[in-house]
Amino acid sequence: MTDPSGYVRERHNDGSRDVRWPAAPEPLAVPVYDNHAHLEIVDGDEPLSLDAQLERAADVGVIGVVQAGGDIDSSRWSAWAAASHPRVLAAVAIHPNEAPAYAEAGRLTQAIGVIDELAAQPRVRAIGETGLDFFRTGEEGVPAQFESFEAHIDLAKKHGLAMQIHDRDAHDAVLSTLERVGAPERTVFHCFSGDADMARIAAERGYYLSFAGNVTFKNAQNLRDALAVTPPERVLVETDAPFLTPIPHRGRPNAPYLIPVTVRFMAAELGIGLDEFCAQIAANTLEVYGSFED
Ligand SMILES: [Zn+2]
Repeated sequence: MTDPSGYVRERHNDGSRDVRWPAAPEPLAVPVYDNHAHLEIVDGDEPLSLDAQLERAADVGVIGVVQAGGDIDSSRWSAWAAASHPRVLAAVAIHPNEAPAYAEAGRLTQAIGVIDELAAQPRVRAIGETGLDFFRTGEEGVPAQFESFEAHIDLAKKHGLAMQIHDRDAHDAVLSTLERVGAPERTVFHCFSGDADMARIAAERGYYLSFAGNVTFKNAQNLRDALAVTPPERVLVETDAPFLTPIPHRGRPNAPYLIPVTVRFMAAELGIGLDEFCAQIAANTLEVYGSFED
């Protein structure tokens, strides 16, 4: 296998976005983790190396990142990043919006085979992001999405790993698929996008809900309602960097060092102490993904 360390992707920028990195927030006293990021995607007015990203994050109390893949190249990169950086763990998968293209090319089974191999690495701790996306992929891609999602569920179970779900406009289909084939023991809705009713169902079934910066958006009352009914031991936080930058930096590049903005917002929203909230979500992260030190 070629060394994937030089692999990067540029975030598309049409010139309408403010690409300056936001100022670093005040550090958290109790450290937390970013549960989902895409650090292979280069964004911002000055590109940040992986080391610089991790250092900036640690400076404000964000002491680890779960780096998520979405195709063969980014999954290989995620596994490499985790193997070479003590502050990174990896998730690997073929994204639901990528699955139809692999299927069309007759390569979906082979691609899932690569994910299976990567999943055996000790610092690969999750299968993700996998799931269903009826927003970006049309009807013709739906069978491939289901085939891929179910294969990824099998992989998570086979390797005893957590699973990070991407669910866009597919709440019912995701929930019923999990019910039908049986969810992995640790199942996370990455960038949870449902409402309070769905949050209740997910929590009852023991799934985790990972909230991203969009929980701060004005039009996202459904996410705040969902957060309010989620038991504290089921709540996680993530950036989905470089996307979904929280208010007041919406539209600018996102990075793990901005997690404190979202965490402060969530704690205030829930009316609980910041330190207590941080300790809870950090413990939840370690329960789902295991120790960063192993
Ligand atoms: Zn993502």
